Amino acid sequence: LRQMKIINNIFEMQEFSRQYQCQNPHKKIGLVPTMGYLHEGHLSLMRTIQSSCDCLVVSIFVNPIQFNNRDDLEKYPRDIEHDIALLSGLDVDILFMPGEIDVYPKGVPEIFMDYPKLTNKLCGITRPGHFSGMLVIVHNLFQWVKPDYAIFGLKDYQQFILIKKMIADLAMPVKILSGEIIRDPDGLALSSRNVRLAPEERINALVISSTLFKIKREFKSGKNQAGYLKKILHESLHKFKLDYASVYDTDTLVEFGDNDIIKSGVAAVAVFIGEIRLIDNLIL
Ligand code: AMP
Repeated sequence: LRQMKIINNIFEMQEFSRQYQCQNPHKKIGLVPTMGYLHEGHLSLMRTIQSSCDCLVVSIFVNPIQFNNRDDLEKYPRDIEHDIALLSGLDVDILFMPGEIDVYPKGVPEIFMDYPKLTNKLCGITRPGHFSGMLVIVHNLFQWVKPDYAIFGLKDYQQFILIKKMIADLAMPVKILSGEIIRDPDGLALSSRNVRLAPEERINALVISSTLFKIKREFKSGKNQAGYLKKILHESLHKFKLDYASVYDTDTLVEFGDNDIIKSGVAAVAVFIGEIRLIDNLIL
């Protein structure tokens, strides 16, 4: 295993990448951006990107400007020691952990990055500003790390679509890879926020993935009318406070109408289990 170096300073990160590219012009830098409290979902992104790159950078930064809810930010789980222990079991070259003051020396940036047609739906409706904050930090991390590759999980499907668009529109020289959703054996999609679920809530949360799996089975058996699939979603999730649950076009994220017959799509859900908002999705 390679020795992992921790870099907190942004200038030092930039210097590292500059020197690495100078000394190894044909080698590739890969970046896995995270907010820490790492789990197998994050680790699987690292393993996937490893086959495309020679130098692996993992970033941990709980980005305050992508939290539209103060309570969610304050309660976001953190355990850097545990994260470092997990990372030392992988071939990570750099753990980049910039400080908040250094990332936002002038406070909250005034720029607003938006794709109105993609953010006026799904998580964008109830999390105003979330995607702008996310795109700003991803953009800035790319400026500092200058990765050849970066990887994002399909767990955050809307985020993945938005990042790919930003990379294309701003001609950013980085290739974007995706990672499959990693789940616990009982189906619950891994999330740093799962630790906040009480034991009983965690059991309740299983209805999310089991409903998505059911929809996929129905779809595969030929029941591909959007209205039918949406009805299953709403019926099995009716006990919970629902943010959204429907079937959407995989590229435009436009919701299918009840009478649409779908050939492909993504079933996506955001639901409150107690106070914790969980998201999950499945590509049909
Ligand atoms: P986060 O730390 O929650 O910001 O997530 C960092 C990256 O890990 C994002 O690209 C997420 O999409 C990805 N990720 C989070 N949970 C999972 C999961 N269960 N499976 C795959 N990727 C995930």
